[in-house]
Amino acid sequence: MIDSPRAIRSPRTGSVRGRSGLYHDQPVGKRGNSTMKQMLGLRCTLCGAEYEVHQVQYVCPHHGDDGILDVVYDYDEVARQISPHQLRDNPTASIWRYLPFLPVDPDMVRILASDSSLGSVGWTPLYPAPRLATALGLRHLWVKDDGRQPTASFKDRASAIAVVKTRELGYPVVTTASTGNAAAALAGLCAAVSQPNVIFVPRTAPPAKIAQLLVYGATVLLVDGTYDDAFELCLRAAPEFGWYNRNTAYNPYMTEGKKTAAYEICEQLGWQAPDRIFVPVGDGCIIGGMHKGLRDLLAVGWIDRLPKLMGVQAAGSSPLVDAWERGLEGWQMEPVKAHSVADSIVAGLPRDRVKALRAVRDTGGAFVRVSDEEIIAAIPALAQGCGVFAEPAAAAAYAGLVKAVAQGWVGADERVVVLATGSGLKDVSTAMRSVGQPAIVAPDLEEVRRAMSAMGVA
Ligand SMILES: *Cc1c(COP(=O)(O)O)cnc(C)c1O
Ligand SMILES: [Zn+2]
Repeated sequence: MIDSPRAIRSPRTGSVRGRSGLYHDQPVGKRGNSTMKQMLGLRCTLCGAEYEVHQVQYVCPHHGDDGILDVVYDYDEVARQISPHQLRDNPTASIWRYLPFLPVDPDMVRILASDSSLGSVGWTPLYPAPRLATALGLRHLWVKDDGRQPTASFKDRASAIAVVKTRELGYPVVTTASTGNAAAALAGLCAAVSQPNVIFVPRTAPPAKIAQLLVYGATVLLVDGTYDDAFELCLRAAPEFGWYNRNTAYNPYMTEGKKTAAYEICEQLGWQAPDRIFVPVGDGCIIGGMHKGLRDLLAVGWIDRLPKLMGVQAAGSSPLVDAWERGLEGWQMEPVKAHSVADSIVAGLPRDRVKALRAVRDTGGAFVRVSDEEIIAAIPALAQGCGVFAEPAAAAAYAGLVKAVAQGWVGADERVVVLATGSGLKDVSTAMRSVGQPAIVAPDLEEVRRAMSAMGVA
């Protein structure tokens, strides 16, 4: 776990494959920055081997691409640099208000974020949702609207770190594979600072997300295959062409961007951690990041207990729910055929499954499965109940709350947060399936009267 940083020891030098991306394979760039002294190193989530930041780049060399790394911090050093008291007077309304908790060079952040949309990532609103709460028999419910990020999804939190890291390490190009939102986030934030980027997305991604990529000027490759195919292709292309790889659950720093949502929720609630947070889960990087953020806050003593993390998956893509129900570990999971209307959470073998299972088990939370019908119904329910128009994956988090309440898992007095991870404008055609067609009238007052009475409006 992350809570007790030890001195970082070097792993034994074993057989190291080129794809694991050790720095000596790296063609360009300087090697990180000495001002990030609160970062102790990187620890493998599978074998616990620890590395200095400059020793490995992406994954633990002992298990190829599965050896996902965790960033380890010196929390005494972090606490020397930041406190809730200082934050109260900090006007920075973005993820960068938590800089000492982030694995980036503060000077590079200042250069890139002071004058661009990189400086607007994060600090999204946390709305009280009293009408939804009452309807569910709850007293305290909030919705965090990450549809209000610069590119309209939660993924901006991670891609912002990727852009800074690309520049810090001196790569000419950054790349990613994505179901859509991570790519849109990378393309948009790259455009903001004129950073060349190459994007691999499955050709089945929703048109709005592909449009974002093209409009932001990314070099786009539509892969004739699944997200998993796009991911593999991107992994192979990055070292071949000398690009920095942002891939989720491969690049260890993406979790670090995602964890900022946990900081924000706790700060927005006056450092009184909520009881439960509902998180939509595909690859598991967001829920893993939330866990990391909460653990960070516990380590510095800013919160006194961990909220229960509730992972919500679509029924057609729920391997983590299965694994949790059967008590399996991440390394025991097998790929399944996955499908759902909620494209952002379709993952047959979730890449960050180890972190996702750990997040739910360590916090005493649960995994919940919701059908596509429940997801579609949740879109207008959430929009009309609190004014947040969510894409299907984001609405799934609310559908998960509805289901958990029905199963009697949520106490009426619990303080509950739903993480709405993306804007409804990302997938308008699914949104239209959740509502009827509008009335059409001639430009004539009598027609308005007729239409009103037909719709039962006084
Ligand atoms: C990526 C994404 C998710 C799921 O995040 P994972 O890290 O893949 O679990 C949920 N909602 C939206 C809108 C997303 O873009
Ligand atoms: Zn390892």
